[in-house]
Amino acid sequence: MAQTPFMEVNQAIAQGGGGDLNACVQCGLCSAVCPWREVEGEFLSRLMIRQGQLGLEGYESDEVLFGCTTCKKCVLNCPRGVDIIGVMRAMRSLSVEAGGVPETLKAVLGSAHANGNPWSEPREKRMEWARGLEVPAFGPDKEYLLFLCCTSCYDQRSQGIARSLVKLLNRAGVSYGVLGPEQNCCGESVRKIGDEALFQKLAGGNVKLFNAHDVRKIIVTSPHCLETFSAEYSELGGEYEVVHASQLLAGLYREGRLPLLGRTRGKVAYHDPCYLGRHGGVFEQPRQALAACGAQVLEMNRSREFSLCCGGGGGRLWMETPAEKRFSLLRVREAAEVGAEVLATACPYCVSLLEDSRKTAGLEDLKVMDICELLAQDLS
Ligand code: SF4
Ligand code: SF4
Repeated sequence: MAQTPFMEVNQAIAQGGGGDLNACVQCGLCSAVCPWREVEGEFLSRLMIRQGQLGLEGYESDEVLFGCTTCKKCVLNCPRGVDIIGVMRAMRSLSVEAGGVPETLKAVLGSAHANGNPWSEPREKRMEWARGLEVPAFGPDKEYLLFLCCTSCYDQRSQGIARSLVKLLNRAGVSYGVLGPEQNCCGESVRKIGDEALFQKLAGGNVKLFNAHDVRKIIVTSPHCLETFSAEYSELGGEYEVVHASQLLAGLYREGRLPLLGRTRGKVAYHDPCYLGRHGGVFEQPRQALAACGAQVLEMNRSREFSLCCGGGGGRLWMETPAEKRFSLLRVREAAEVGAEVLATACPYCVSLLEDSRKTAGLEDLKVMDICELLAQDLS
């Protein structure tokens, strides 16, 4: 990678809306709470920031430069208010500009560019998850646009989340519709990987599409879409009211619109996704939705703002992580330790990584489920 002088990193951070790199006093409180410390990873946030301050070369491996999962734990622990995620993003963007991208992420960025999704799938297959279901098209008579993230559209395991949500929305009589293959990936992970130009292309295309259809309200299944639509699309002229499926479902139940039986038996531990909890501030509604289907909701030792990241943010969903360094492996073990029969969550990235680690850990009796799947199972 090319040398990155201090000025250049600071400029990149400023362009991304981040704070002053020089505010860091190297106390190490960020690294102390970073999940990489629990798996003895090479990545050390304090050192990365020091390298940014000094403008030194020396990102020895992809794990170092592309290690941060953007989980936000460190940001809440930094006494100097350093925009640590902004710093990581800025340093990556300099590397991406110089062509320094890990191979797996090259494929992700290439597909997002060519197909509008990171999964190397054709654009026209975007709606295949919906086969056999009644899914209305979005139009002027619809209150909400239902935006399914690329993972829910293309990943076979995650398609169950989308299909479950549609069943729930139909039963509750929600006025919603979908836009289909024209829509792009929301671009959240692409931006965190550091490809700002590609983010602008994907998000710009979505804003144009949404505005042409006069979209005002959006339902999302992924907390990553929630974050970028609500916090970042306004930069491109997109102003929307965005609601995560778990929030909407809790509200529908409260209003008496969801005919649930309350027959979910067993202990359900809830894993707060980083982008729904720490980033989005949504902690209670997913728990209310779980209680509505009759589940006995358990808390793991680390919950709400202290939740342990699954490891999938910041583009790491697509990177190879050795089993012993997967945060998700620690998480499924935590769920088993509190006696959970189901590990519930509310994010397709979390479902994917927790499901993999459940298998790796040999936890045959533990199920990983999205809240939408649990609620759909409990419909009368
Ligand atoms: S916690 Fe903040 S001030 Fe301390 S090393 Fe990390 S970024 Fe720097
Ligand atoms: S955002 Fe999470 S993974 Fe990234 S440096 Fe902070 S604590 Fe570590």
